[in-house]
Amino acid sequence: MTVEWPAGMSGYPCNCEKMMARLSDYLDGDLDAETAAEVERHLRACSQCLAYADSLHRIVELCRAYEPAVKPRPLNPSARAELRSAWQKALADRRRAK
Ligand SMILES: [Zn+2]
Repeated sequence: MTVEWPAGMSGYPCNCEKMMARLSDYLDGDLDAETAAEVERHLRACSQCLAYADSLHRIVELCRAYEPAVKPRPLNPSARAELRSAWQKALADRRRAK
């Protein structure tokens, strides 16, 4: 997940930038224990990042809770075959262009 840098955050005098980059992985539980602990330490010390983590967390929760009213149906086999051949053709074109 890519997150926009909040306005006014650049040049903040701690290692916020490093922490922000890890925040979405942290919220997804993708960090190893040591890195997660480092993020947690920073969040306790930095109210600005904590507020940011909080809003990011809310966004993640909202995305998870969101269920489209109309679920996309799986493609039928002929459409899938057509897509695959178009994709393979595109790949072949790209290889030829190199
Ligand atoms: Zn910070």
